[in-house]
Amino acid sequence: MIDKEAIRRFALEVGADLCGFGDLNRFEGVPRAMDPRFVFPDARSLICLAFRMPRGVQRGIEEGTQFYQYPSLAYGGINETYAPSILYEVGKFIEDQGYEAMIYRNTGARGSVSDMDGTPGNTLSPEEQIVYQQTGSRTAHHRTVQTTRAVSPKQEAPDLQFHFRLAAAACGLGEIGLSKMLLTPEFGPMQRFAFIFTDAPIEPDPMYSGKPLCLKCKACIRECPGHCLSETETITVTVGGKQMTWAKLDEWRCYVYYTYSGRNQDPFVPTEVFDKHRDGKLRIYEHPEVQANEQEVLNVYSTLDPYFPSQVGYNMAKCAGCIGACVNMLERGGCLKGKFKEPFRKGLRRWNIDR
Ligand code: SF4
Ligand code: SF4
Repeated sequence: MIDKEAIRRFALEVGADLCGFGDLNRFEGVPRAMDPRFVFPDARSLICLAFRMPRGVQRGIEEGTQFYQYPSLAYGGINETYAPSILYEVGKFIEDQGYEAMIYRNTGARGSVSDMDGTPGNTLSPEEQIVYQQTGSRTAHHRTVQTTRAVSPKQEAPDLQFHFRLAAAACGLGEIGLSKMLLTPEFGPMQRFAFIFTDAPIEPDPMYSGKPLCLKCKACIRECPGHCLSETETITVTVGGKQMTWAKLDEWRCYVYYTYSGRNQDPFVPTEVFDKHRDGKLRIYEHPEVQANEQEVLNVYSTLDPYFPSQVGYNMAKCAGCIGACVNMLERGGCLKGKFKEPFRKGLRRWNIDR
């Protein structure tokens, strides 16, 4: 039997911030196209590594002065550089003991089902649509969503992507909050995940059963500029016998708001652009009743494309509503293990552009 605590110690030593072990049977009942057991059918254990985001990467967004440190360092940097290098070390550590380690980084790509509505095969992100329409070329993401097929009737289509947050919960690291973010006692919503499937038999960690991590304060709902998280509708799932409930998220709406966030939250788009397009291509900002869908979001993206600073290759989260709100509330509630000398937010509310 492989020494689970030795793996955990090693993972933390080489740079992961949390390490948890899950039983793949905890995924019983998830939709086939998101069932991680198809990835490595002989795997007996799942290991989750969590990588904390320094609180300071949110500072510029919180102040309204600097927006690309978060997508660059805490999103792209962890996904692309930091987590893969640590996965690689931990994978070798496991394989040196005679077990296979399928290391699984966050790809940032699209899976075989839509990110937006779970339907198989299509629904491109707006920026991919724009690239496709303007250049006729296919981005790396198109590869999977449009042409993928299962290699045999028993298999699921590549590239199967499972639900990272639920998988982290299945490895005992925390629970999903009302915001749909995975909350841990150590860092609240401020971490990203990567995984290892292995055929090593490892005793799973228990599901998180400590004090509830979500305060149900609804600050994430209140502070979302796009009203993307429902006040009234919730989704409940059961993983490893543990029920988790979050507010229903309108993914298309979130897509447009976290990238552009609208008249009062986006300092990159001039006022006259919003004025000119009132009731036109930007109507989604002015009329809450407008249903967000691929076409509406594409209207926004194609109109605001010149104001889309994507120097870092990842969407810049200009809203930061749900994460900032949650960090603020969890700190005020004394819920996080890590303590800072100064609070994340000094005043009651975040900035708002008056125009
Ligand atoms: S990421 Fe931004 S737009 Fe999306 S739910 Fe959170 S606050 Fe709202
Ligand atoms: S902001 Fe409040 S309700 Fe939302 S996830 Fe955080 S603790 Fe839960």
